[in-house]
Amino acid sequence: MARAAEQTDIVGTIRTQLEELSRDLWWTWNPEGRIPFEMLDPVLWRATKQSPMQVLDAVSDERIALCAQDDRFLDALAKATKSLEAYHDAATWWGRGAKGDLKSLRVAYFCSEYAVHESMQQYAGGLGVLAGDHLKSASDLGISLCAVGLLYRQGYYLQELAEDGATRVYYPEYDFDRMPVEDTGEIIVCPVGSSRVKAKVWSMKVGRTTVYLLDSDVKGNSDEDRELTRGLYRGEPSLRLRQQVLLGVGGCIALQHLDEPVTVYHLNEGHAAFVAYQRIAQLVKDGMKPADAKAHVKATTVFTTHTPVPAGHDRYGVEEAYEALRPVLRQARIDQDEFAELGRERPDDFREPICMTAICLRFASRINGVSQLHGEVSRDMWTHVYGCASKDVPIGSITNGVHARTWIDPDAEAFWRKEINLRLDRHTPTMDGWEKALGVDRPRFWALRSRLRARLVHFIRERLARQALRRGEGSAGVNAAMQAFSPDALTIGFARRFATYKRAPLVFQDLERLKSILNDPRRPVQLVFAGKAHPRDVPGQEYAQRIHELCKEDGLRGKVALIEEYDMEVGRMLTAGSDVWLNNPLRPYEASGTSGMKPPMHGGINCSILDGWWPESFDGRNGWAIGDTQPMQDREAQDRKDSQSLYAIIEGEMRREFYDRDGSGLPQRWIDRALQSTATVPPMFNTHRMLAEYLREAYIPAHRGGL
Ligand SMILES: *Cc1c(COP(=O)(O)O)cnc(C)c1O
Repeated sequence: MARAAEQTDIVGTIRTQLEELSRDLWWTWNPEGRIPFEMLDPVLWRATKQSPMQVLDAVSDERIALCAQDDRFLDALAKATKSLEAYHDAATWWGRGAKGDLKSLRVAYFCSEYAVHESMQQYAGGLGVLAGDHLKSASDLGISLCAVGLLYRQGYYLQELAEDGATRVYYPEYDFDRMPVEDTGEIIVCPVGSSRVKAKVWSMKVGRTTVYLLDSDVKGNSDEDRELTRGLYRGEPSLRLRQQVLLGVGGCIALQHLDEPVTVYHLNEGHAAFVAYQRIAQLVKDGMKPADAKAHVKATTVFTTHTPVPAGHDRYGVEEAYEALRPVLRQARIDQDEFAELGRERPDDFREPICMTAICLRFASRINGVSQLHGEVSRDMWTHVYGCASKDVPIGSITNGVHARTWIDPDAEAFWRKEINLRLDRHTPTMDGWEKALGVDRPRFWALRSRLRARLVHFIRERLARQALRRGEGSAGVNAAMQAFSPDALTIGFARRFATYKRAPLVFQDLERLKSILNDPRRPVQLVFAGKAHPRDVPGQEYAQRIHELCKEDGLRGKVALIEEYDMEVGRMLTAGSDVWLNNPLRPYEASGTSGMKPPMHGGINCSILDGWWPESFDGRNGWAIGDTQPMQDREAQDRKDSQSLYAIIEGEMRREFYDRDGSGLPQRWIDRALQSTATVPPMFNTHRMLAEYLREAYIPAHRGGL
């Protein structure tokens, strides 16, 4: 009896410890936080997309009792718990440095999507990935920041390709009680048109950063209002408009209820533009003159724009938008004419709808694009809002980054730590140490590359087999999958949303030339793709279908693969294992791109159009540049020119350097280029550096502007 009780006790204690670990998403970038869950039940771990909370939910007490007798497990658990505690107790870079008036700086970061981990598909693509990485770096550096978003019952869609390559769309159904979110107990009421929408406020812990997520799927709301947080980028424009009212207006109301002492509002993309109107309404209600309220809101707002693609900027009819915001605008003393003027790109063009980006441009004092080139393009793109020459348009640039420890493979991190004493857990904005990669032991570096590639090939085969089984291709399909790809062949990766400007099928322009490249018996090349298109983006889905068909063609079969369901896990696998990362957008539509910042931490090399972030990084020795910067009028001619440039690179330097081996079997010139990539890309293109720039260029000036 006593023994049984003791055992129940131990199981209970372990459960509590694991529960606490699982509730802080710190584990998403600290491998030691994940290990106990993986050890607890490796099968569940994979089945739940590596979700600690779901593992804990499903695992039996018997299993925990068994693990409780395993010292390795107990050590791993103790280590994780201690490490999480130490993280929260540590002095931070910003905590040590913020003096005087800066001690009260607090940022509220608004975004419609957050990619924190693949087990929570609350993101569609690059915008969410950037936002998730932003939160993690803010936490590591100790910058006082909370975030606001929506919690989607069905998240973003899951992708499957049918036998003919047609996209099938699935929606997961999230049970928020089984997600690492907590009920704050607050229910806010957000006016949306004539409706008073209730929203529950959940909080999610990302290290030191808290994310508040609104959920309108609650009792007492009409069905229509409950729909508002059903899914990401779904439904008619009128639904999106109301969803954005909830994000902007409801988000501000929530911050106020929670007594968040916010001094700076960062609108990450135009979706959250309505924050401005709610803040003005609140200030006017508190007794400020409308003109002063507008000036104050502008002074304390930061806006980041994310795309030069026109369709990426939401626009709504003046009357419809005015109706949706009427209670807020009435309180802000903004009438319909003024509302139209504040929202139109050209205020005096009465035919124009309102544009979310134009509102943000008018109500922010610090505005940036996400790469130097995108800053330039944005200044040109929005001259008509300002009525001045593009050089005078007040849009700057802060180049995106990636959160290093989220994206680096643990094997690679351990390698760099051991070989060059690189410490990614010392959190400062200057990530030095990478330059020492140039002097690393070359045979051991090549062994790391070979391991990462072999693991990617294993992953590709497993996924292809699963896809084949699902399509009913039986054992023949599985056998073919198991023989696809080679662990030793030059591997090119391409993973991104299948938006048309990204030109996923460009490498297939000249099929015969591509086939001869892939099938060179002595110097073979293989290509792995992943990507999904928005469910309404028909041309994007045709890209997926086309590549799916091509994978089956003679001369490409077994050498070209399309992995379904591009998520953070697929992203990590492909960026760690690929030798070359291919990026061939139509210049200048890739505002930044961040996936190419991930492979260099693993010795991967970029081969990219000089678009987005790449012109800032390319030095002639750390990768390849496809084509040139001269735009052509004719899209087809441009595709032809760029694809020929790409073939020439592969057939020339790329293949030569990879397959030219010395006496000890090492490709010395390839290693030169790979190490140059590792030494030059990560120190600059990471979110720690990016956050420090946001502080200097935007947060601190906006904070002081409000004092
Ligand atoms: C890194 C990453 C992105 C961003 O990729 P870009 O196309 O370069 O902007 C998008 N989705 C996932 C899953 C990623 O891992």
